[in-house]
Amino acid sequence: MNRPSLQISRAQFRTNIAAVERRIAPSTLMLVMKDDAYGHGLTWAVEDAADAGVAWFGGYDIGTALRIRRALAGPQRILAWATSTDDEVAEALLHDIDLGIGTHEYLRRVIAVAGSLGQRARVHLKIDTGLRRNGVLPAEWNAFVAEARVAEDAGSLELVGVWSHLAEASDAEDDEAQQVFLAGVEAVRRAGGAPELLHLTASAASWWRPELRGSLSRIGAFCYGIRSADGPELEGIRPVATLTASVVRTDDDGDAVLPIGSFDGLPSTLAGIEVGTPAGPRILRRIDATTSVVAGWPGVQSGDPVSVFGPGDQGEQSATTLAERIGTVGEEILTRLTPRVRRTII
Ligand SMILES: *Cc1c(COP(=O)(O)O)cnc(C)c1O
Repeated sequence: MNRPSLQISRAQFRTNIAAVERRIAPSTLMLVMKDDAYGHGLTWAVEDAADAGVAWFGGYDIGTALRIRRALAGPQRILAWATSTDDEVAEALLHDIDLGIGTHEYLRRVIAVAGSLGQRARVHLKIDTGLRRNGVLPAEWNAFVAEARVAEDAGSLELVGVWSHLAEASDAEDDEAQQVFLAGVEAVRRAGGAPELLHLTASAASWWRPELRGSLSRIGAFCYGIRSADGPELEGIRPVATLTASVVRTDDDGDAVLPIGSFDGLPSTLAGIEVGTPAGPRILRRIDATTSVVAGWPGVQSGDPVSVFGPGDQGEQSATTLAERIGTVGEEILTRLTPRVRRTII
């Protein structure tokens, strides 16, 4: 059976990056690449982004950060913020990767590993501004900062950044989070630190809340053309990926059978959506384990291309529009697609 294909437009990726950079200037883009560049494939995306001048990459975990480093030829900066093992930390330091640190315990281990390697770790300290997901609570922040400053004076780390992550649930909560964040930055300065990189916002807040942006903006979704679920369209941004499958046969009712199913990561709850066929939009009647069934059209035959989602100019919907139907986000639709879905970079 032929394989479904995720066609990925490098031109659209670059267009999106340029639109994001224009929008957030003078804040600098940190392109977030977790989950294999949100399911798009990491290596080509790193190469293209570096070519387009992107200077900062966000890897989430150190494994991803190392993959980014291998794809880069230049001096671009990479940040990994998942709490990691000592061995991973050592690898990260040897490959010039910045570390995001959100617990005392991790700070102590990073200092110890840096000391044993005779290296200076570049760190970004994370304050919890309300999300309660990795980050030092404001009440413990001063002690945490003091410990980092001692290590900085001793030469085992360099305190280059302060950061946090917003809930993006309401503007009021995000405003409060920013106050906590700025107080945290102030405390670092009072302790003698001079962090030049301040970052608080991801895609949505970077785009819509300029007053919250720091010197860096950590952005994944919008660069891949994934808008926020239940959020508005974004000027100059379109989906990078199009999911297509070719009709493998017609059934007794004249419906078209596609070689993609829930085992390939297409949620069966998406049954009922409209997909793009050569004759225009048609209902996707059913999603089974390895196949799906689309309402037929006059002259339907095997080989006819059907697009399940994409930028929206062939009658198909975006991954986010599909995600909204089942109460999730566009990222989730893309990152669930298994490797059987062939990635074609065009
Ligand atoms: C995933 C992630 C981002 C990027 O979020 P988007 O909404 O995709 O832009 C930024 N910061 C952190 C800490 C993340 O985990």
